[in-house]
Amino acid sequence: MEVVKITPRGYCYGVVDAMTMAKQVARDPAVPRPIYVLGQIVHNRHAVEDLDRLGIMTLDGGQRAELLEQVPDGATVIFTAHGISPDVKKRAQQRHLQFFDATCPDVTKTHTLIRDKIHDGYSIIYIGSKGHPEPEGAMGEAPKDRVALVTIPEDVAFLSFDEGMRLAVVTQTTLSQWDTQEVIDAVKQRYPKAEVYNEICLATQLRQEAAVAAAKDVDLVVVVGDRRSNNSNRLVEVVEKVAKKPAVRVERVEDLDPAWFVAVSRVAVTAGSSTPSQVTRAVIQWLEAYDKKSLPSRF
Ligand code: SF4
Repeated sequence: MEVVKITPRGYCYGVVDAMTMAKQVARDPAVPRPIYVLGQIVHNRHAVEDLDRLGIMTLDGGQRAELLEQVPDGATVIFTAHGISPDVKKRAQQRHLQFFDATCPDVTKTHTLIRDKIHDGYSIIYIGSKGHPEPEGAMGEAPKDRVALVTIPEDVAFLSFDEGMRLAVVTQTTLSQWDTQEVIDAVKQRYPKAEVYNEICLATQLRQEAAVAAAKDVDLVVVVGDRRSNNSNRLVEVVEKVAKKPAVRVERVEDLDPAWFVAVSRVAVTAGSSTPSQVTRAVIQWLEAYDKKSLPSRF
């Protein structure tokens, strides 16, 4: 079986910077202990386990404001690459917690855009994933009555902004380019004068475009990425919807099922921007060593 390694794949610069910052914080004896991360530093459990081994504890399973209240006085807190709302940052300052902000510069750019547009009298239609920390942080830049989240075209019907209002449409950084265009089209149909700011980051775009291009010449695409990783899930989606080829997502080499490859001559491998390279390398090695002839007869 031929294995095509799609590039670019794996860690983006925002994730590399966030991991580097967290590791530097862990190694600095001057930083007050204990050290917490507010949510998963990036959506990958291997990355979370790496920090755990360095003594950094991950608080998870709630909104950032709730998680912050679990941090004891005098401790240190790291904000993740997904960004943080100004209210949560202010609360950390009020509590005199030492904090480090690993927000990706591309997410910071979206925060600045929303702040500027609010200052100029606009309301914000934010296209993003429900329950994901990036929308939570970015939408926190706007007063609650001047921002609304839409995820799918059908959500547009429920928006309560008047047609005459100044509206800015802003997107999450890790969405599928193709799906997002469908939502933007639905917004523009209802609000033709809305200004559109597509904030899907370059790392996400390049990984999606490379996956779609490679998928055309293979039988199956394997995406290595965590179930909670938005950009990994979007890679599966664009391969299936845009390239119209099958795709599977695995978190680690143990998830690979030999039965998937029985009728496959060429397989392509990519990875979400939060997937450590050693995890992807193990998957590639498994695929390269895959030998149909040695499979048990049930295959
Ligand atoms: S996926 Fe894009 S926005 Fe997210 S951390 Fe990477 S570069 Fe930054």
